[in-house]
Amino acid sequence: MDIEKELKDKVVVITGGGGILCSEMAKAFAKYKSKVAVLDLYKEKTEKVVEEIKNNGGQAIGIGANVLDKESLEKAKEIILDTFGTVDILINGAGGNHESATTSSEKTFFDLNIDDISKVFNLNFLGTVLPSQIFGKIMAEKKKGIIINISSMAAIRPLTRTIAYSAAKAAVSNFTQWLAVYMNQEYSPHIRVNAIAPGFIITDQNRYLLIDKETGDLTQRGRNVINATPMGRFGMPSDLIGIVLFLCSESASFINGAIIPVDGAFSAYSGV
Ligand code: NAD
Repeated sequence: MDIEKELKDKVVVITGGGGILCSEMAKAFAKYKSKVAVLDLYKEKTEKVVEEIKNNGGQAIGIGANVLDKESLEKAKEIILDTFGTVDILINGAGGNHESATTSSEKTFFDLNIDDISKVFNLNFLGTVLPSQIFGKIMAEKKKGIIINISSMAAIRPLTRTIAYSAAKAAVSNFTQWLAVYMNQEYSPHIRVNAIAPGFIITDQNRYLLIDKETGDLTQRGRNVINATPMGRFGMPSDLIGIVLFLCSESASFINGAIIPVDGAFSAYSGV
């Protein structure tokens, strides 16, 4: 696997690229001399990532873009095509859960506001579908490309409390398989669509569930996660890099429509 040669000059679009996991991916691609477009709802979050990439001699642009807004993505596409000329790889990273769509001792399933459920569902599911339409079209036209979606352990078996997030990530896994087949049948055998399903990595979207705000200790849920993870730890953002780069390499040329757990064996463990 000559990853250096294979990733050099590839144009990589990363949504949610200002976030904890995807900024790490953006920096990894830049290290291998890819041209990286870092997209995030908050432009200021992209600027930090781009600055770091440039300081290390890499190429990147930061664009404020909303994955739920077609016009905003079309504008981003224009900027990317003007700057880098094409799109080779799309990482659909924008997503996450929100407290408002999570049950608790104070908020039962019956109290949940349907708009809050929609927001989380749409961000994770439609926020993956829409960028795949906008940037995937370039791949369909040139009959070549790679899309990586971010699913979750919540897709395999729903996690307690996170109703909308679990449903949305199950939909992301399903969509990954659907789009892989569609792209091959309708456009080209050289377009691959896969997903990674990370285990638990502490970031802004799940900290409130896993760490006690007051004490900084693990919550009961945090302890449950560790106990259900045979490797006995949370993941780190860097744990995702190997698989993402591999899926974008020629070595993965027959891997398509796969959802790959990166979870310290959480999904393999029955609890017994
Ligand atoms: P994060 O909150 O650090 O990153 C998400 C980024 O998406 C943020 O920078 C946010 O500004 C951006 N974003 C939010 N709404 C957006 C929108 N409408 N348009 C564009 N950008 C938007 O969270 P993270 O943990 O780095 O999450 C990255 C992905 O990984 C998400 O899809 C998440 O669901 C998934 N994931 C995370 C874990 C985990 O344990 N952290 C596990 C499995 C899957």
